Amino acid sequence: HARAEARGGIRVFAPRMAAERETRLLLHAALREALAEGTVSIAYQPIHDLRQNRPTGYEALLRWTHPQRGTVAPAEFIPIAEETGLILPLGAWVLRRACADAASWPASVKVSVNLSPVQFVGGEVARVVREALEAAGLPPQRLELEVTESTLLQQNEAVLASLRELRAMGVRLALDDFGTGYASLGYLRAFPFDKIKIDQSFVRDAVERPDCLAIVRSVAGLAAELGMTATAEGVEGPEHLAMVRGAGCAEAQGYHLGRPLPLAEIAALAAR
Ligand code: C2E
Ligand code: MG
Ligand code: MG
Ligand code: MG
Repeated sequence: HARAEARGGIRVFAPRMAAERETRLLLHAALREALAEGTVSIAYQPIHDLRQNRPTGYEALLRWTHPQRGTVAPAEFIPIAEETGLILPLGAWVLRRACADAASWPASVKVSVNLSPVQFVGGEVARVVREALEAAGLPPQRLELEVTESTLLQQNEAVLASLRELRAMGVRLALDDFGTGYASLGYLRAFPFDKIKIDQSFVRDAVERPDCLAIVRSVAGLAAELGMTATAEGVEGPEHLAMVRGAGCAEAQGYHLGRPLPLAEIAALAAR
């Protein structure tokens, strides 16, 4: 029938959309259960200070192993957690866990935690952070929070108020994945971050592409002039390390310097 033909594309497409929706619902339920049962975990990746040649901090990265599917990447489950609101308890758990873990590290070692834009809705984020710090007995100066440009996308006064509240507590603030958003320079003007993390896509290409090298070098220079730390992400080999050093980055992070590892392996490193 002609109408059905005309909607052929929809008929072909609909079952796949339904299947995707079902997968997301199942993943959401399983993730909620994993959080309740304590089977989500954190991997810590070192952030190297390039002058001191040692890790001065570790980034907390969520890890989840699904009982049947195996490892599920944050890129897959974080968006689901954001859509369903599960990111609120999940994000609060990461904050509490990471602060408690970091409290046992040497005082010169910081911990970085990623915050979702969704955690800024409702204006509760500073309270959640304060409670995590207090429960762990971690000085605020040892916590760094990473936000992406999407957090600042609305130029929302409430978001800026939360960032100022966190700053006033003494927590450090980093702009993550810098360069992948829409109006990066505007965000630097809107809020004085302590750190800019240059996205790994620039770092990876800068070894071979002069234009990307120019971007990395310029962002490092811009950060220095603004009194911010420039951290290069995605340093995968010695050639990347040499490049980001030469470009003037103060810190670097990537597989070449250390992969994300479970706490037990990090604690051994940090204690050395
Ligand atoms: P991100 O915050 O930019 O974290 C860096 C990501 O790059 C991590 O991926 C890390 O494993 C990966 N990475 C580090 N070094 C290298 C390298 O040399 N090469 C390559 N190719 N990749 C490298 P991961 O753990 O899969 O996390 C992906 C993203 O998921 C994170 O990006 C962050 O946006 C988000 N995420 C992870 N944990 C959390 C969390 O607790 N809360 C929130 N809201 N987001 C999180
Ligand atoms: Mg990050
Ligand atoms: Mg990043
Ligand atoms: Mg990223």
